[in-house]
Amino acid sequence: MKFFATSSTRKVKTGPVIKRLLVRCPSTAKLTATGQTIEEQLWTAAKVKTPKFTCPHCRQVHTWTKKDVVLAR
Ligand SMILES: [Zn+2]
Repeated sequence: MKFFATSSTRKVKTGPVIKRLLVRCPSTAKLTATGQTIEEQLWTAAKVKTPKFTCPHCRQVHTWTKKDVVLAR
C-alpha cells in the first residue's frame, strides 16, 4: 500500500490573519473591542469608517481614530 507524500510538504500556506480592533476607553483606560475585525495585512491601507462604538465599560459612545486602535487576535 502506497501513500502520497503530501505530509512532507514544507510550504505551509498561512491564511489571512484576522485581527480584532480594540480601542482603549478614555474613561476607564480599558481595552474594548469595537466589534470590528480586519485582515492584518489590510490594516495599513485600511480606511476606518464610522469610528464610533458604544463602550461596555462606561456605556458612553466613543469616537476613535485609526491610531487609537490596538490590533488583537
Ligand atoms: Zn468607555
